[in-house]
Amino acid sequence: MPKRIAAICLTVLLLLSMLPQLVFAEYSLPQFVRIGLMHGNGAPKTIKVESEHGFLLGNYNQREFTERIQTEETSLTVSITDGTIQVLDAQGTLLDSATGSIGIKPNASGKEQKLRIDGVEYRGALDCIPDGTVMTVVNVVFLDHYLYGVISREMSPSWHIEALKAQAVCARNYVAVHLNKHGSAGFDLCNNVHCQAYSGTRVETKGSYAPVDETTRQVLTYDGKLAELYYSSSMGPTTEDVKNVWGNSVPYLISVDNSYEDTENIPNGVWSDVLTVEEATTIMRNKGYDVGDVTEIKVLEYTPNGRVLKMEVKGTKSKKTFERESCRTLFNTVTKSQMFSVTPVKEGETQQAVLYLTDGTKTGEASDLKKLTILTASGRKTLSGSALYASDGKTQASYAAVKKVAKTTGFRFDGTGWGHSVGMSQYGAKGMAEAGHSYVEIVLHYFPGTNLENVY
Ligand SMILES: [Zn+2]
Repeated sequence: MPKRIAAICLTVLLLLSMLPQLVFAEYSLPQFVRIGLMHGNGAPKTIKVESEHGFLLGNYNQREFTERIQTEETSLTVSITDGTIQVLDAQGTLLDSATGSIGIKPNASGKEQKLRIDGVEYRGALDCIPDGTVMTVVNVVFLDHYLYGVISREMSPSWHIEALKAQAVCARNYVAVHLNKHGSAGFDLCNNVHCQAYSGTRVETKGSYAPVDETTRQVLTYDGKLAELYYSSSMGPTTEDVKNVWGNSVPYLISVDNSYEDTENIPNGVWSDVLTVEEATTIMRNKGYDVGDVTEIKVLEYTPNGRVLKMEVKGTKSKKTFERESCRTLFNTVTKSQMFSVTPVKEGETQQAVLYLTDGTKTGEASDLKKLTILTASGRKTLSGSALYASDGKTQASYAAVKKVAKTTGFRFDGTGWGHSVGMSQYGAKGMAEAGHSYVEIVLHYFPGTNLENVY
């Protein structure tokens, strides 16, 4: 084949191979995200906003800002009265007011674009949205700048950079999958653990930037769609198939090897805790399962990876069976993961022997041996001593009138790992990174079958 034709063919092939990704990709990655900082019960009537660069005031249409007013004031008060948002400068002069939302952007760009809300520093800009008598305060921020603040909350920035990069990919995927999760309230994600914990620049360290910058615009996809990535602190020797935790099957959330995790030597890697019978009974009742006083907690079935799949809680009135994740969350004051065993804690208790009396027609239980009298050849006698003797004429056996028996006073849970055990183990990722694996190898190991792609 002539060289030129071969080159054309190669180009066409290359273009064709790029087409599905360019044309049919069912995902996108926004440049900015909207994070609810003050919302619901935490929504304020007034806030103080500061930036050394001055401000641009205007309007946000979702992620797009239109400027209306420019001011060199470095300190603004934003408040809401009778449904109208007002922006005042430090002297109390009205700069802007609106019955709708007002966007407030520091007059700076890139990493310099920071502002303080009531003293707490955030990157990006604000959108203040009226919500009755209060305002919802939204941080409109570059996706990667938001991730600077998230990654330090989810994994220690002192860890190996390849583990942090794997974490950055997980956090970015989370944002892309859950965009508009709080759409009805005017933002994408909230700032607490319901979505991802975020508290601005104060948690950023030197180690927060490179993992995000070096993976910018990268996401994991499966079958042309964004993958939903999960992670938890530690998991023991293997991760768990999602179907044994949340019930549904996902092709890339299956059980994989986790032997790089140094489970024995990490916080909460191996744990043991005791629940008293009273505590177990109270928890069951508070969660709406009235089985009476809890008498037994028994694992009925384990997953092939050694996690509890079915657990039975028996009480004096009835019993109840729990499956999958609920086996971990039911007694989550003691169980840190789904990988555990339960052993009853027994304590000795003094118990009287039971003596049955019969008059030839009916049999009854003697309630108190000490009150029992016996007719002997020398008259009526009270039973005493600690043993009774019975004889058939040839042999004689003694029966303890009082004996010690074991009574269940609680349940000991011995377990491995911390969290739901689906997807990436954070300590496992740390171990893989320290053993020389790249973040690409880490994410592709924990999410088998996915592809790491650049999204522009
Ligand atoms: Zn949320």
